This record gives sequence, C-alpha cells and structure tokens, in this order.
Amino acid sequence: MLRLENIHLNYGRIQALRGISLEVLPGKVVSLLGPNGAGKSSTLKVISGLLSPNDGKLVLDGQAIEGRSCSFMVKSGIIHCPEGRRVFPEFTVMENLRIGAYQRPQGSDVEDDLNRIFGYFPRLKERSQQKASTLSGGEQQMLAIGRSLMGKPKLLLLDEPSLGIAPKLVAEIFEILRTINRSGTSMLLVEQNAHMAMKISDYSYVMENGKIGLEGSAAELKNNPKLRELYLGG
Ligand code: ATP
Repeated sequence: MLRLENIHLNYGRIQALRGISLEVLPGKVVSLLGPNGAGKSSTLKVISGLLSPNDGKLVLDGQAIEGRSCSFMVKSGIIHCPEGRRVFPEFTVMENLRIGAYQRPQGSDVEDDLNRIFGYFPRLKERSQQKASTLSGGEQQMLAIGRSLMGKPKLLLLDEPSLGIAPKLVAEIFEILRTINRSGTSMLLVEQNAHMAMKISDYSYVMENGKIGLEGSAAELKNNPKLRELYLGG
C-alpha cells in the first residue's frame, strides 16, 4: 500500500535520510527500528507530509504523493500518532478524541468509532470527562492512539508508543495495537524497544545513520548479530 523509494531528506547541511526504501503491504505491521538519531522520526514526518523530501518517491496505492500536504495525507488515510503523545492537556478525553475526527464529513460514523475505541481502551471511557493533563503517561498514549483512530487511518504511523511508559502498560498497548491491526489497519511503527516491536511486526527495517542497515521478519532478524550491533549504534 505504501512504498518509499530512495528518499533523501536534509535539514540544512545535515543529511538525515540518505536513500530510504521500504514498503508496507496492506494489513501488515512494519516496524522501523534503530538507535537515537538514525532518522526514524524524520521518515515518518516525510510520510505524513510534515516534511517534504529532497529526493525520492513516496507511493500510496500506486499514486505518487511525496511532498503533498499533511491535510492531503490525512484525507488519504495516513494518520501520524506523534512521539511524545501531544494530547491537548486542557481538553477532556472526549474532546481530544473528537478532535481526531475533524477532517471527517459530518454525520459519518463518529459515534460508532468512539464506542469502538472505548472498547479497546476501557480506561478512556471511565475517564472520558477528565482533562487529558490528569491522565498517566500510559493513558495519554492510549488517548493519542485513540485520537489517531478517530481519523479512520488506512495506515497508522506510530512514533515510539512505548516511550516513558511502565512495562506492564506497554505490553497492554502493544496487545491492543495488534488487535487494531487485525481489524484492518496497516501500521508503520517506530520503536527503540526492538524486542517489543518485533513481537507484533510482520516485517522490520533497522535504520543506521539515515539508511536501512538491515531488514527481515522477526524470525530472520532475531539471531542476526548485526541487529545488536546496529541497534546499539555500533
Ligand atoms: P530518536 O529515536 O532520537 O527520535 P530518530 O531515529 O527518530 O531518533 P530523527 O529524529 O529522525 O532520528 O533525526 C535524524 C537526524 O536528523 C538526527 O541527526 C537529528 O539530529 C537530525 N534532525 C532531526 N530534526 C532536525 C531539525 N529540525 N533540524 C536539524 N536537524 C534535525
């Protein structure tokens, strides 16, 4: 469904992405792993239209979309759940979720989706009238994922959903991500937590210095000594 071909991105004189090629097939969970500064978040920002690549192709369902606006990407079904959650702290859980549906036409099945999300995350239902700032870190991550789902993603981009969250909640969130994927949402997951990410991924790419250093299924990568080396930054 999504293909990146030789994507380059520069921040001024810094070459953050130096020829990234990867693919997310329909219905799959693909993870993008690698050490700090490898270029994982930058790759997601190119896909969601936050940044325009200097070179290369981005193809969604056969259509070239590189450099299009965030609004175009959202309408095409690409939704970015950013690093650090970025919930609106002064708004309630319910208000944050409804904001996620802002690009959808009036009268579409927003209420059904709210119920579906409360089914995935009962904690959010219990806290629906609570301000987002009063949620725990893990609950805020659930809210950020729920808000992204309100945009009806075909492809959900997740940036470090495990960051700063207690291990027990991380396991719970990853389990729910798998359930969401089984209901038909493809995912591209950026993670530092390679072990956890590979557990739910059909395929993984490992980035190093703006390039893909290694790729394969969890079974293929598990015993690869280069994974450890790359992942730890050499
Ligand atoms: P992390 O896991 O730490 O978030 P990452 O793999 O997501 O790392 P990126 O955030 O994509 O990496 O950063 C890739 C490179 O681009 C890094 O060297 C970073 O310093 C640089 N970079 C990122 N954003 C900017 C920016 N706005 N201006 C200049 N350089 C940037």
